[in-house]
Amino acid sequence: MSNRKIWGLILTMVIVFLIVLTKFDIVKPVNTFVPNREVKLTILATADLHGAIPTKLVEYVQEERKKDKNLILVDAGDFFDSTNSVLMTQWFRLSGPNSNHQRRTPPIVREMGKLGYDAVVLGNHEFVSNDKDSLDELVLDFTDYGIPVLSANLYETSNYHAHYVNPYIIKEIETEQGIVKVGILGLTIKEVGESNGPRELKDLLQYKGTLELKDIVQEVNSKRWPELLRYNGADIVIAVVHSGEESLKSKDTGNRIKELAQSTDGIDAIVAAHTHVNIPEHKYKNKSGETVIVTQPGRYGEYISKINFVLVKENGRWTVKDKSSLTQKP
Ligand SMILES: [Zn+2]
Repeated sequence: MSNRKIWGLILTMVIVFLIVLTKFDIVKPVNTFVPNREVKLTILATADLHGAIPTKLVEYVQEERKKDKNLILVDAGDFFDSTNSVLMTQWFRLSGPNSNHQRRTPPIVREMGKLGYDAVVLGNHEFVSNDKDSLDELVLDFTDYGIPVLSANLYETSNYHAHYVNPYIIKEIETEQGIVKVGILGLTIKEVGESNGPRELKDLLQYKGTLELKDIVQEVNSKRWPELLRYNGADIVIAVVHSGEESLKSKDTGNRIKELAQSTDGIDAIVAAHTHVNIPEHKYKNKSGETVIVTQPGRYGEYISKINFVLVKENGRWTVKDKSSLTQKP
């Protein structure tokens, strides 16, 4: 036998041997691809902007967006005001609720629209600095930018007590590991008025017979909103609430975030507002003993809240592996 034939025979035998090994699972095909089912998700939240978004805050959000594709931006209310903005002061004078001039989009809505908020929640200033017609327009202004306005405890007094705006949205985030559905529930403090006048929305002259706000805690517990959001597909639930953590004065009974966190099930994190304080992260236990994170980004865009989620897919469902929050000066 020639050398060439011998080598040919050896090669054939090696190939046959390898085929046999593979066939009988003696040599397993190497599969180094282990799917990583972990996903990171970020929620950025502003609150109590009172008329303007500082340039630094705009730049901060734009930078975060470049770094992080799985990012949601929400606002917890009290943006419709002139305290923090010359442009809004002019707007109220020329085009506001009491003006005869043709309405233009409020500068703050344009700023929020350009920044691409995923949802905004109504605060008390959206009511007290407004009247019903102008509030209707405000909601439409946001609609023009494709931004949903939320408040689950806000009802029309007539019209069979329909919701005035959307109670919640379920935002789908397309991650490399698959779609994550984030439920965002909006709620507004019932006591919208200043301390020297009528407190509740239903008692404000410009809303009489049109709108009313129900108590935040009662609303969530009676309607079981977190449960409903999960039933409708939400993997996690964030409550964005225009209300403070707790009331220090017996007069201001509307600040009920702590009570909301402790008396409800199914909320993963809460963005608080209204009291203008900076809360990086407070932790409470809900009815089932699970942790609820509370964060509040101060006022005027001086801080922004950042909630970080690590989710992992188990048995076809996303579960929270880790969550934390902080506030940052942009
Ligand atoms: Zn407020």
